[in-house]
Amino acid sequence: MILVTGGAGYIGSHTVVELLNEGKDVIVIDNFSNSKKQTLDSIKKITNKDFKFYEIDYLDREKLEKVFKENQIDSVINFAGFKAVGESVIKPLDYYINNISGALTLLDVMKKYNVKKFVFSSSATVYGEPEKIPITEDCKIGGTTNPYGTTKLYIEQILKDLYKSDNTWDIVILRYFNPVGSHESGLIGEEPNGIPNNLMPYIVRVASRQLKELSIFGNDYDTKDGTGVRDYIHVVDLAKGHIKALQKLEKDQGLFIYNLGTGNGYSVLDMVKTFEKVTGKKVPYKIAPRREGDIATCYSDPTKAKKELNWEATKTLEDMCKDAWNYIEKNGKK
Ligand code: NAD
Ligand code: UDP
Repeated sequence: MILVTGGAGYIGSHTVVELLNEGKDVIVIDNFSNSKKQTLDSIKKITNKDFKFYEIDYLDREKLEKVFKENQIDSVINFAGFKAVGESVIKPLDYYINNISGALTLLDVMKKYNVKKFVFSSSATVYGEPEKIPITEDCKIGGTTNPYGTTKLYIEQILKDLYKSDNTWDIVILRYFNPVGSHESGLIGEEPNGIPNNLMPYIVRVASRQLKELSIFGNDYDTKDGTGVRDYIHVVDLAKGHIKALQKLEKDQGLFIYNLGTGNGYSVLDMVKTFEKVTGKKVPYKIAPRREGDIATCYSDPTKAKKELNWEATKTLEDMCKDAWNYIEKNGKK
């Protein structure tokens, strides 16, 4: 059985769908701090399959142990954690406690129950100001500009230390680039609380007239049109990367690190134009000052994941825009 922490969340729910489609037995834990119960029903509707669920905080060691006692768990995918960059600057302790103490509690319980296969959601943010573009996994990491990013950096270090102390652990660290879009059914998707920080959810809310206009944070970067360039990846492609990571752990032993991105860099203006073209909706925007901590360009070299995991992103920017909009349309937020 595969334990998925944070399985009701955005990336977790899409991954649970792929796992169930692959015929895997899945257990989800979540405390709904950033998700809804309804998502669990939507997963069942999409897949026509059932799975076990525990509503618990993964910092609650006693309740977490109960999950390990009651089930024969083989591997764990850890999505649980807080992820809002801006909020992490205001509430650093909440982020360090939830993300780092959470991961530590989980790893310690895994150790006790001799479950030693672990897949971790890291982020391209660990590269800080990238050493080179496209970014390969051996680029230096560090220089994170906010506590959220630093939690990812520290957890990566904890995993490396753990592996060094006991190489019977098998660990995959996945460094996600910019996940966007949603499942084609429109039943699950991204629903940030309050005003979104990330580009795609913001574009979608401007297009649906919940927000007036997009502020483009800077048009004087050293990029093709002056706006920031990122590697947007469809969340379903990303979810499939986790299936490949588990397959890797089944056949090979070690600690492995992979970028999950498309290898393509798109600017903020590319995003706006593609979204408008695909959906027929207008996205009014204004040019605003640069956002603190932002870098000009960030995109991956995904060669290692292709070679070693036999994984590669297949969906286009058009698919990402279409599916992000489809979710909003299907959920009555137009
Ligand atoms: P999300 O907030 O949608 O999902 C996280 C889930 O974890 C939520 O359902 C939340 O309720 C749950 N959770 C949080 N704290 C918990 C706790 N203490 N106990 C139990 N459940 C808890 O976020 P997401 O976008 O799906 O991201 C999943 C993971 O991927 C996170 O670790 C995130 O940092 C990482 N990541 C996300 C992105 C992105 O852009 N979305 C990029 C890189 C890495
Ligand atoms: N961005 C923007 N306006 C927004 C949100 C984001 O111009 O309202 C830009 C941001 O400066 C960056 C890109 O869009 O160049 C992606 O930002 P996001 O926050 O989605 O991802 P990250 O910066 O974490 O890669």
